[in-house]
Amino acid sequence: MKTKICHYCGEPFVDSHGNLRYCPEKNCAYEVKKLRSIHQYANKSLQADQVWSNEKILRDYYFKYGPNTEIDPDELEAAGFDFDLNSEERKVDNLVIFCMRKFGFSFLKNKKIILWKLS
Ligand SMILES: [Zn+2]
Repeated sequence: MKTKICHYCGEPFVDSHGNLRYCPEKNCAYEVKKLRSIHQYANKSLQADQVWSNEKILRDYYFKYGPNTEIDPDELEAAGFDFDLNSEERKVDNLVIFCMRKFGFSFLKNKKIILWKLS
């Protein structure tokens, strides 16, 4: 039996198992799980925001340049486009389209990209 300090509330408790990090009597372990879930939820909604802002950038550029204009991907990145974001992929005529809701883009062999309006 060892006295330890709870990682959540900072109070001492007696660890009868030898591997506890939170007070066994209080709800500390539960509170930690709850906090983690809230953070995960926040991350998810943050990602949803980023999909939305990515789509907005694609839409702006699509209406500025049209469907067949080759664009330097650096230009989108400079506008705030996040290429790391996971997106749905579709394959059309040997081109992979990375989709952000209603708009998408494809990489070309010359390192440019073209934009798509999806139906
Ligand atoms: Zn505690």
